Amino acid sequence: MGKKGFVLCVCQGTCPSFTKMDIFGMLSDIRREKLFDYVCLHPQLCVGDGDEFIKALLSGGETDKLYVAGCDPRMQSKMFRDAFEAAGFDKEKHVALDIRNKTTEEAVEAVKEMAANSP
Ligand code: SF4
Repeated sequence: MGKKGFVLCVCQGTCPSFTKMDIFGMLSDIRREKLFDYVCLHPQLCVGDGDEFIKALLSGGETDKLYVAGCDPRMQSKMFRDAFEAAGFDKEKHVALDIRNKTTEEAVEAVKEMAANSP
């Protein structure tokens, strides 16, 4: 059975959209919920080394589903498309969630809902 991975992407932690959220608190809460096999934080997935991160993470084929909380889902699809393709990861297995402008509690609830709706 493939693994479910969760990545929190936070626009370097400096974007105003993320100031209401305690980034590490949110990630700790998600981890404690045990919704995913692993969780991690990335400061900026949509640049060159973000592509490399995605490729390194997914190319082993162990991850069956990748949940990414960050910006707009359509933006995520466009920005990660090439890296998914290079890693041989089916883009349909990417579940994207927009958590901008949410508090820590709101973001945790949104992630729980996403995981429940896309198991
Ligand atoms: S992928 Fe989205 S959330 Fe992550 S750094 Fe880029 S714009 Fe920001």
